[in-house]
Amino acid sequence: RRMTYELHNPTHVNIGGKVPLGLKKKQLRVVVTGGAGFVGSHLVDRLLARGDSVIVVDNFFTGRKDNLLHQLKNPRFELMRHDVVEPLLLEVDQIYHLACPASPTNVVGTLNMLGLAKRVGARFLLTSTSEVYGDPLQHPQVETYWGNVNPIGVRSCYDEGKRVAETLTMDYHRGLNVEARIARIFNTYGPRMCLDDGRVVSNFVAQALRKEPLTVYGDGKQTRSFQYVSDLVEGLMRLMEGDHVGPFNLGNPGEFTMLELAQVVQDTIDPNAKIEYRPNTEDDPHKRKPDISKAKKLLGWEPKVSLREGLPLMVNDFKQRLFGDEKEVTG
Ligand code: NAD
Ligand code: UDP
Ligand code: UDP
Repeated sequence: RRMTYELHNPTHVNIGGKVPLGLKKKQLRVVVTGGAGFVGSHLVDRLLARGDSVIVVDNFFTGRKDNLLHQLKNPRFELMRHDVVEPLLLEVDQIYHLACPASPTNVVGTLNMLGLAKRVGARFLLTSTSEVYGDPLQHPQVETYWGNVNPIGVRSCYDEGKRVAETLTMDYHRGLNVEARIARIFNTYGPRMCLDDGRVVSNFVAQALRKEPLTVYGDGKQTRSFQYVSDLVEGLMRLMEGDHVGPFNLGNPGEFTMLELAQVVQDTIDPNAKIEYRPNTEDDPHKRKPDISKAKKLLGWEPKVSLREGLPLMVNDFKQRLFGDEKEVTG
């Protein structure tokens, strides 16, 4: 089995601080932090299919080994249990940095991965979030908008953590010549999404399948834009391979109120599913929709899968995980 990474070995340090151009065409050594998670595991599938060597670094905080079981025998794949809050020595060409719980540790993890990128001259991609726009006063959100985040709010730990991660990434890029890429990801759904982390799409789908009422928070008139995971992964890879730092909004501009989403879930799974209203959380953004002109122009990217097309693909996966393979999706 070919070693795809090595512990710190000075002869492998790329002192120039840049990936030599020739390397782009060769087999790449790629690290995906958070690769056992929802988005990461889909990204890993694409990178391996392309012929890259992939190391996943994950502490299984919210990710699952199950998401990668089908790759464990692939000789170009390695799975490391590691918390990115601890320093990490690897020799790689690209770092997709997805590892992130909703807590400040993502700042330390990002610092370590930037330090790694600087030492070995790897290109670094940060998966930031639309939450950097907070409860936006501009609609739709363009990358030049600075956002409206409450620094002491109940949600601010995640938002401010990602804002600091963007700042660190730009400082390492400007000051230390790290080749950086920043993606601002809007709400994404699809197979392998966490069943119980409270996101609205996973909640509604699991509730409808379990014949429980769909829990709509607040009046249900707040909006989000939902992107299917394969569209996101395509955007992340184009961003990594392209020449632009970003930040780039990666999201589907199709905007839905939570009541409209509930309707799509009813149409897809169970027209008789009931709706139950619950109080909303504080500081919940009222609306969110990406302006993706920049990604269209500079990355040649736009989403292809609509909510009505993507949702059934996720429903099949949730059925399997909730009930085993008893039944296929209907409707
Ligand atoms: P996820 O929870 O499924 O994946 C995150 C992965 O990171 C998990 O496998 C988890 O075990 C791992 N992880 C967490 N802390 C770690 C640590 N300290 N060390 C090592 N591994 C650690 O979430 P996801 O939806 O796949 O999100 C991936 C990235 O995309 C995250 O950075 C997230 O903030 C960003 N993002 C996602 C969405 C979305 O809608 N899914 C939206 C905006 C941004
Ligand atoms: N780091 C790492 N792997 C590496 C190089 C650095 O995890 O291959 C960590 C390092 O331990 C430090 C962080 O990245 O905590 C930032 O490193 P950098 O060299 O930029 O800063 P310094 O260590 O000089 O403060
Ligand atoms: N939401 C809801 N019911 C749920 C979970 C969430 O109505 O069971 C709402 C939530 O109040 C928010 C929207 O759905 O307005 C999106 O929430 P999510 O946590 O999925 O994403 P984020 O708020 O991070 O965009």
